[in-house]
This record gives sequence, C-alpha cells and structure tokens, in this order.
Amino acid sequence: MFDKILIANRGEIALRVLRACRELGIKTVAVHSEADRDLKHVRLADESVCIGPANSTESYLNIPAIISAAEVTDAEAIHPGYGFLSENADFAERVESSGFVFIGPRAENIRQMGDKVAAKDAMKKAGVPCVPGSDGALNQVLEDNLELAREIGYPVIIKAAGGGGGRGMRVVHAEGALINAITLTRGEAQAAFGNPTLYMEKYLERPRHIEFQVLADQQGNVVSLGERDCSMQRRHQKVIEEAPAPGITEEERRRMGECVTRACRDMNYRGAGTFEFLYENGEFFFIEMNTRVQVEHPVTEMITGIDIVCEQIRIAAGLPLSFTQDDIVLRGHAIECRINAEDPHKFTPSPGLIKQFHAPGGIGVRVDTHIYNNYFVPPYYDSMIGKLIIHGPDRETAIARMRGALSEIVIEGIKHNIPLHKELINDAAFQAGGTDIHYLEKKLKQEF
Ligand code: ADP
Repeated sequence: MFDKILIANRGEIALRVLRACRELGIKTVAVHSEADRDLKHVRLADESVCIGPANSTESYLNIPAIISAAEVTDAEAIHPGYGFLSENADFAERVESSGFVFIGPRAENIRQMGDKVAAKDAMKKAGVPCVPGSDGALNQVLEDNLELAREIGYPVIIKAAGGGGGRGMRVVHAEGALINAITLTRGEAQAAFGNPTLYMEKYLERPRHIEFQVLADQQGNVVSLGERDCSMQRRHQKVIEEAPAPGITEEERRRMGECVTRACRDMNYRGAGTFEFLYENGEFFFIEMNTRVQVEHPVTEMITGIDIVCEQIRIAAGLPLSFTQDDIVLRGHAIECRINAEDPHKFTPSPGLIKQFHAPGGIGVRVDTHIYNNYFVPPYYDSMIGKLIIHGPDRETAIARMRGALSEIVIEGIKHNIPLHKELINDAAFQAGGTDIHYLEKKLKQEF
C-alpha cells in the first residue's frame, strides 16, 4: 500500500479522498489555490502545498505545479478526484512518466473514452447497445448527412466528439435546419474543444439517465455495482441521484452488468468507471463513459457497502478486488441531493460567508461536505458545497428520511438550493419514481 498520496482536487471530494486515505493508514498531501487555504481537507492533511492563484487554470489545472508538489512532498500517488484534471489523459501520462502512480485508468483508456466517436465505436464492438446514429464521425459532404438523418429519422442530435459538460450539442427537428445546425455546431466544437469532429444520433424524447458503476482491478477482475438513476437534471447537470433505479428489474441489472464488465475486460480497463445510458421504452442506449469517481458515487456505496474511493486506491496499489460479483448484494435504497450555493429559483451562484451550518443526523444520514461555520465559499469554483445522502430499507423510507434531513439542515449567510430539494422530495412524480431527463426543467418552467 502507498505511504503518501497527493490529492489533486478541492472541496468535498478532496475531503472524501482524505477520509479514505486515513482509513487505509496513508499520509496525505493537500494542494490548494491561494483562495483555498481554509478548506477543511487542507487543515486535516498531513502536509499542504499552495500551487497557485485562485484561477483554476493556474492552480488545480496547473500540471507542472501539481507534479512539483508531489516531488517536494515525496508522495507516491496522485488522486485526481472528479472534474479538473481527472479525465485529462496528458495529466495521467505526465504523472506516471514523473514516477508517480495515477489513481485512475490507464491514459489510453481516458483518451479513448474522451473522444466520444472512438468511445462509441469501442462500445459497439464490445456489444454495448448505443443510440442509433452515424457510424463514426460525420462526413464533410453535407448531402450525405441529409441522407443519414433521413435514415435515422428526425429529431436527431448533432454532438461534438470532444464535447463534455453538456456543451457542444444541438437538436434538429426537421431537414431544413440540419445543414445550418451542423455548420454552427462544428464551429462551436472547434472553438470550445479544439476538435471539429461531430457525430449524429437519434434524439430520444423522453429518456431516463441510468448509469452503471464498475470497478476493475489490475488482475483482470471486473465487477458491476449496479445502477444509479440521475434523471433529475437541469441544463444537463444532475440535481438528485438515486440507487437502485426505480423499476429496473433484477434481470435488466444482471444483463447490463454483464455487458459493461465485458466492455471493461475488452479494453483492459482498470479502476472505477461509469457507463452512462439513456433508457427509453425498456431499452438502454450508451452515451458516454466517465473514467473517474463521480459526484454521485455515494448512493452506490450506501446500497453495496463498498467504499469506491478506498477501492480505487487499492486497485492503483496493485491489490486485487477483495470481492467477486456474487458477493455484491444491493441493500435498500439511497438518494443524494446535491447542495449548491445558488439561488434556488434563479440558479445564480451565491458565494460568500457561511454564518451558520448545522448538519442533519440520524439513522441512514450521510453528509459529504467541506463547509463549516464561518467558511467562506469562494466565487471561483463550482457552486456545489456538499451532498446529502440518505439510505433506507426501501425508497419510501429513504424519501421520508430525506424529507426529515432537509428540514433539519441549516445553512445561513448564503443562498442555497435546499428549498428546491424540499419541493422535489414532495413532488408526486418524483415520489412515483421514473421521471425522464426533461422533467425538472418542465416543472421549473411551470412553477417558478
Ligand atoms: P456530456 O459529456 O456533455 O455530458 P452526453 O453525451 O453525456 O454529453 O450527453 C449529455 C446529456 O445530453 C444527456 O444526459 C442527455 O440529457 C442529452 N443527450 C445526449 N444525447 C442524447 C440523445 N441521443 N437523445 C436525447 N438526449 C441526449
């Protein structure tokens, strides 16, 4: 096992990684920007290094500064968390070529999954069902694309191969708008991702977002930890996640679990990963793979009892998984509400001083957050300040416990989205389960 790990991230996920390290008896190095000296994990870490100014391009995205911090502190491995450099294949390569272990997949897998055309191609070959669409990248010959869209059937969606974070996509409802949409999206893709490659998919109108969590060790063992439903989204950002997904049968879970673990074996994948699917009319369609730990990983941890971050570290250290697929039993139901420092109706960010913070408690209540009384939420980073995760023996109990926890939590001094969560947890369609990815936006238009 490693002696010392550098945590190349901030906020709740940096604290989450620190907790896993402590459990495993590993020393920690926190790296932080000038604006983040007071982060909770920086205070708790064995050592800390300031790697640059507030602006993340000069700090959390500054590869040479992070590598030097690992060198001066004699860390053995680097955990990238999520966001920032976590899916940057060049970073993974630099970490390893500098003599450290990257706690994540091999650079070539990150690179392949980061190119969505290549990712889809690999998935098709591995027998993973994909959204019907273009075979690879779109042709430069515009007329060929008209023909292709006719075959797929409108509406279609034009997507950038290098896209991410819900950007670089355009829905086209009729042939008249296709050529213009391709030209516009190509320009945007070139500007935003430095890659003009586009592809086309059938646009699914009422899908749910269902994703499968996997863990793969370096000995070739791969397990699926079941699925999460992340359909409650606004602007492609997840707001509430839960596991298991309402209505998914044991048979569907087993079949998809076999499918994603086979794909991992095919590409010699290692570490934690997530296969994201759109689910409509009983069918799963692959959209992308995330090659890192995800924000919503705790709901899976709560129902499987497996610590995904500890497993990432063990796998990176070369240890085999200590369980097999047959050992994985799903128990009860878990729901996560993402807590953001933002206006609950207008969604504008609300950084500032947290004057009061009281965490909820009780059976099945987990709070993953870096905030504390008198913590100042800086304006420079993502507005997520924590996650409230609830576990219960069944979905109904989990909802009731979430309702209780939301009424108990106190965050004063800044605006936050707890009022929105209170609204959603009492929403009849959410309570019934199985809402599609457009539900929240439709509801927001009607009610607020
Ligand atoms: P990103 O990496 O930017 O998140 P994804 O490919 O995961 O891109 O797509 C993000 C979101 O866009 C999905 O969660 C879904 O809401 C929507 N989307 C993507 N592809 C389709 C499609 N073929 N049909 C309908 N919605 C889609």
